[in-house]
Amino acid sequence: MPYKSRWTIDIPNTHLASILFKSPTAPLSQTHKCFLEAARPETHYLTPHDYRLWSQRFAAGLLKSGLQPGDRVLLFSGNDLFFPVVLMGIVMAGGIFSGANPTYVARELAFQLQDSGAKYLICAAGSLDTGIEAAKLAGLPRESVYVFDNGVYDNTGSAKDGCPYWGDLIASPEEGAKFVWDELSTPELADRTLVLNYSSGTTGRPKGVEITHKNYTANMLQYTHLLTLYPDYESRKERMRWLCFLPMYHAMAQTIFIAAAIYHEAPVYIMPKFDFVKMLEYTQQFKITALILVPPVIVMLAKHPIVKNYDLSSVENVASGAAPLGREVCADVEKLWPAGVINVKQGWGMTEATCSVLGWDPTETSDSASVGEPNANCEAKIMADENTEIMARNQRGELWVRGQNVMKGYWRNPKATKETKTDDGWLRTGDIAYVDDRGKFHVVDRMKELIKVKGNQVAPAELEALLLEHPAIADVAVIGVTINHDERPRAYVVLNSGQSATSEEITSFMDGKVSATKRITGGVVFLETIPKNPSGKILRTVLREQAQAELKGV
Ligand code: AMP
Repeated sequence: MPYKSRWTIDIPNTHLASILFKSPTAPLSQTHKCFLEAARPETHYLTPHDYRLWSQRFAAGLLKSGLQPGDRVLLFSGNDLFFPVVLMGIVMAGGIFSGANPTYVARELAFQLQDSGAKYLICAAGSLDTGIEAAKLAGLPRESVYVFDNGVYDNTGSAKDGCPYWGDLIASPEEGAKFVWDELSTPELADRTLVLNYSSGTTGRPKGVEITHKNYTANMLQYTHLLTLYPDYESRKERMRWLCFLPMYHAMAQTIFIAAAIYHEAPVYIMPKFDFVKMLEYTQQFKITALILVPPVIVMLAKHPIVKNYDLSSVENVASGAAPLGREVCADVEKLWPAGVINVKQGWGMTEATCSVLGWDPTETSDSASVGEPNANCEAKIMADENTEIMARNQRGELWVRGQNVMKGYWRNPKATKETKTDDGWLRTGDIAYVDDRGKFHVVDRMKELIKVKGNQVAPAELEALLLEHPAIADVAVIGVTINHDERPRAYVVLNSGQSATSEEITSFMDGKVSATKRITGGVVFLETIPKNPSGKILRTVLREQAQAELKGV
């Protein structure tokens, strides 16, 4: 029997915009600041009223420009005050939002542009060179590449290098105020995709994950529900202040900061990207109450001497997700506060499940590396194989999850969808997990190929294909190795006979082709042959064991 959540919540059948903003015209606060630029919060912020109106203006402008229902629009930008507006504007217009990693090189961006078939690329002004090159590679005309910044706020933005300004797509306030998003029927809500987030899933290259209105609403409410379990939730809500440096193109920041924060009325201080010292400064300055982190940042909090210089007493929650994290580091972080104040809790999620699936009841104490239990309305089970569920506690198997938040499928890829999602809705996660005696889940290993570097996805298949373009490389396998509490890609390489290449040559060959997190920072090892099974599948477990032996003591 699968583990069913202890909680059932009502997931209303409405458009995501109706959950966040009630209706196109309902009165919304014009004084509460929901999004603030951390660097200039006094002057650059949005209220819920502003957030809706800017989104409506953008939606109206997109439709005027010829956007059709279901058209994809890709945003290539770091975090920005107007990032949520772009997402919601596209969704209100009936389009599909796709966010790309802002550190991508042109080739990586071109792949996502092509795969999603994006009609427009909205590109951060500072990354325009990459955007233009990617558009060229993908066959997207320059007139469809819009320069993005938050200059619309104070009329300082403009077109650049032959690319139009995204502000030209924003309709007047009067038109915006009149814009009404379509309410959708119940089957449409479960069927209509609003976001395409990219993930490699259990195998192969990144694929577009189709998240529907129902998925998004469900996951936002499931995440929110956990917070409402605090007996003093209402008074906590008054104090809530969140800091967002996790990238908004990723499912985790999207669900928590772009959607759930509005629902909770928690002000979000937006940082363009991660910066450890600034994170500490802002936490002190803005009296941040929740630190939502990924393991490498937890490790920095635990180890960096500078942390002691900051007053972090406003913090009430510290959470970690996106990659594995040991309990000892969490215990070290807890020592930064008086005993009993902070209990670092881990959660588990996956882009294919919108975001979070397993989490902690905040009134309980975590004393292990467990990721908690199924969120409201979710189910989870541990599978020995395709048909056999493991009922015993403490026994490892593949984690399967099911719920209203599980994706519709992979974009234009029914084969991958079928391999990942069963006909009755279970998502095969490719993670290895067990359930302990308390009924809590532990995610302990991965059977899938995926590597997570600083919480970012790295697909070995993509790196292997690129490495094979090196003239001296005959065969290759890439796996993840853990060094200093973070994963890094490590390449096992077979050279063509009679040819030579050093590990330095191979790593620098890759440096120009991929963004920083995908570089081969875990080392290059030369082999005679890559271990494979009779059907030619790389035996990654064999390589992982070999790497463990090679890296002993590192
Ligand atoms: P993503 O789709 O980018 O969110 O990555 C999902 C994958 O990240 C999962 O399938 C896991 O392999 C890994 N992951 C996420 N959260 C955790 C966690 N708390 N512990 C271990 N691995 C995690």
